[in-house]
Amino acid sequence: MKRFVQLSQISRKTDYDYCVIGGGPAGLMAAYELSRHGETLLLEAGVASSERPYTDLRAETTDSVLLSDHGTHPANPWTLRGPGGGMERYAGILIRYRLQDFDRSSVFAHASADPRWPIEYEDLRPYYDEVEQRFGVARASGLDPTEPPSCAPFLPPHRTSARAALINEAFDELGVGHFPTPLGVNSRPFARRPACTHCGHCNETRCQTGAKASLLPLVLGSGSNRRLRLAHAVTAEALRVDSTGRASSVECLDTVEGRPATVRARHFVIAAGALNSCALLLRSTSRLHPRGLANGNDQVGRGIQFKLTGYAEVRAPARALHGESPTLFSTTATTDFYHQLPEGGCGGFVYDASAPGRPDTLRLHFVISEAPMSENFVAPGPTASTRPNVVIRHSTHKVDRLRLRSLRSIAVGTLSRIDRRVRVHEEFNATGMAHLAGGCRAGTDPRTSVVDPEGRLHQCDNVHVADSAYFPYAASANPTMTLIANALRISRQLAQQS
Ligand SMILES: Cc1cc2nc3c(=O)[nH]c(=O)nc-3n(C[C@H](O)[C@H](O)[C@H](O)COP(=O)(O)OP(=O)(O)OC[C@H]3O[C@@H](n4cnc5c(N)ncnc54)[C@H](O)[C@@H]3O)c2cc1C
Repeated sequence: MKRFVQLSQISRKTDYDYCVIGGGPAGLMAAYELSRHGETLLLEAGVASSERPYTDLRAETTDSVLLSDHGTHPANPWTLRGPGGGMERYAGILIRYRLQDFDRSSVFAHASADPRWPIEYEDLRPYYDEVEQRFGVARASGLDPTEPPSCAPFLPPHRTSARAALINEAFDELGVGHFPTPLGVNSRPFARRPACTHCGHCNETRCQTGAKASLLPLVLGSGSNRRLRLAHAVTAEALRVDSTGRASSVECLDTVEGRPATVRARHFVIAAGALNSCALLLRSTSRLHPRGLANGNDQVGRGIQFKLTGYAEVRAPARALHGESPTLFSTTATTDFYHQLPEGGCGGFVYDASAPGRPDTLRLHFVISEAPMSENFVAPGPTASTRPNVVIRHSTHKVDRLRLRSLRSIAVGTLSRIDRRVRVHEEFNATGMAHLAGGCRAGTDPRTSVVDPEGRLHQCDNVHVADSAYFPYAASANPTMTLIANALRISRQLAQQS
C-alpha cells in the first residue's frame, strides 16, 4: 500500500521525469498514468484527514474570495483540499458531457470567450470508456435522450428510491422523460469494490464501505509501482524557467515544517483545481514571463466559469416514502431541457438530490453552466499559502440568469404536482462556486487560449494543464467524469511523446 508522506521523507532525486501538482482526481489520474512511463512525483497541498462533517469541509476548501455582483464573499469552490481532492466527498454522479457540449458556439451569442473545445466527443470517448471500465458507472442505457455514444454499461442502475419514485410520477404527469442518475457507486461488486449498502453517506462524506468510486484507492493500491511518489502538505508556489523559457523546477513550501523546497523535473503537469492552477501560473513570474507563466497574451485566469444552480424542494407525504431512509444521493434525473429551454436558450441538468438530515424532503437540483466570459477572471493572492490565496472577479450575464430562472420554473412546476408549497434556494449564485472550470482554456489559437488541444501551454512546452481549467466551456453536466477522462488522455499523450 502506498502512502502520502512529507516531501522531506522522499529520497532526493535531482530530476523527476514528471512532477504533477495537485492530488485531486485529475492529478491522481495523471500521476498514475505517467508513473507507468517514468519517475513521477505528485505534490499535494492538503493532508490526509479523518472523516468530518460538511461544516468542516468548507474550512478545508481553497481559501478564496469572490468579488461578484453580490459584493465580496468568502468563495466556496466546492472542492476539498487533501489527497483525493473534491472526489473524496463527491455525491457520486459520474456522467459524460454530451456531443453538443464540445461546441456551443451557436447558442452562446453572449459569450465573450470562445465556448468551443478544440477536441470533439469522439476524441474523448475511448478515455471515457476506459474510465468507466476501470471504475464502473451504475447506469441505464437508452433512456437518456441526450446520451452520447458509449460502451455498454458495466453495472446496472440502482433501484429508484421512494423519493425519486414520487418525482418520477410528477415527471410522467408532465410528459417529462427521466432516467436513473448515472452513479459511480457500485450496484453490485465491481473493480474490487463492494456493492453499495445504501447507508446514505454519499454526498459530502467519505464512502463508509468503498462502494463509491474514487481515484485515491487506485493510486494508493499501486504499492508495487516504485516510480510513483506521493508528497502531501506541500504547496507549489511558483514554477521557475531556465534561460530558454522551459520550466525547470517548482518552488514549494512544506507546510508542516514551514520549509521551502525545490523540485526539478523534465515535465510538469498542473492539476491543482481550476482556481489554483491559474493562480500557480500567474504567480510564476520571471524575466521571460513577467505577467506569469504562459500569460503573454493575458489569457491565464480568464474565462473562469461557475455552475449556476439552485434547489427546489417540498415535503413528501410521509406514507408515500414507506419509511425509507436513507438512500443514495440521487436516483432520477432528466435531460429533457438540457439542450433547449421552453422559452428558448440552452438549458441544463435536473436531478433529485437528497437533503442531508431531512429524509422527508423531495429536492430537485437544477444546474446550468454559464457561458464563458473573458471578463470573469482569477487573480492570485501573494502566495499559495496565505489567505485568501485566490481572488475571483465574477459577474453573471443576464442571459444566464434568465436561463437559470427558466430551468428553475421546470423544477418548481414538477414538484408543485406533489405539493404547491415549493421552496427554492439559490444561495450558490451569491457565493459563486460549483464545478469551477476554465482559466487555462484550450484552443488551437495561441492568441486566445492558454493550452493546446493536448493540454500543453502554448508558451511553455514542458508544462501541461490536466484539470478543468482546460475546459473552454464547463457544460451543465457534472464535470468529474470528463476531467478524469481528459487527464488520462493528456497524460497518456504526454508519456507517448516524451
Ligand atoms: C460535496 C461535493 C460533492 C460533489 N459531487 C460531485 C458529483 O456528484 N459529481 C461530479 O462530477 N462532481 C462532484 N463534485 C465536484 C468534484 O469534486 C470536482 O469536480 C473534482 O474534485 C475536481 O477535480 P480536480 O482534480 O480538478 O480538482 P480538486 O478535486 O479540487 O483537486 C485539486 C487538488 O489540488 C490541491 N492543490 C491546490 N493548490 C495546490 C498547490 N498550489 N500545490 C499543491 N497542491 C495544490 C488541492 O489541495 C486539491 O487536493 C463535488 C464536490 C463536492 C465538494
